[in-house]
Amino acid sequence: MRSTVLTENLTQLTRWRFVNAFLVREEDGFTLVDTTLSGGAGALIAAAEEAGLVIRRIALTHGHGDHVGSLDALKRQLGGSVEVLMPEVDARILAGEKIVDGKLPGSWPKVETAPDVRLSAGDWVGSLEVVASPCHSPGHVAFLDTRDRTLIAGDVFTAYGHLAVTSHFYLRFPFAAMATWDRAADVDSARALRALDPALLVVGHGPSHRDPGAAMDRAIARARKALPAADAAVQG
Ligand SMILES: [Zn+2]
Repeated sequence: MRSTVLTENLTQLTRWRFVNAFLVREEDGFTLVDTTLSGGAGALIAAAEEAGLVIRRIALTHGHGDHVGSLDALKRQLGGSVEVLMPEVDARILAGEKIVDGKLPGSWPKVETAPDVRLSAGDWVGSLEVVASPCHSPGHVAFLDTRDRTLIAGDVFTAYGHLAVTSHFYLRFPFAAMATWDRAADVDSARALRALDPALLVVGHGPSHRDPGAAMDRAIARARKALPAADAAVQG
């Protein structure tokens, strides 16, 4: 686990050079954002100890396996003292609720830990404001640290090579209630995050970007160009 201090409030924890979790410093301890794949609990807890605080909360950007993989082991090891917060829609999916017709692509592992809190846009996790950014997964959220405008964008963007919109389109069929749900919605989420004008952008995969506005604009422009006509929407 590689630990990179990005700001006084934020440390990026990287496993196997490709998947990130984050320690967000609060007065009462750390909020851990995402948990990487399974097998990471010990190293995540050790990284928090090394940084000098205990993990008080675990907040998830979304329910994919490379983000919730170590959740159960963390919950076992940290016990009742840790609060788990998960986006509402992804929590329902992980709880086994059928949200869409057909198979939901992406890795949705079996997770035993039920969240203490199901997050919706506008909720707060310590200093982090919950920002809706659906479509990479149905309930995906980002977290904006309002102390310094650091944006933890989960998988809406990836940062390998150049910054890109992660245009995984994961829903073959629309939500019953959201007939216009399509790949363009992922780009809409990217635009919504850009509009927050973050000072620092961190993502689930790849390095951090300071003053990311121009790079986000370029990534969004590329993603818009790549949008298929109307309904040619499904891709991996
Ligand atoms: Zn994902």
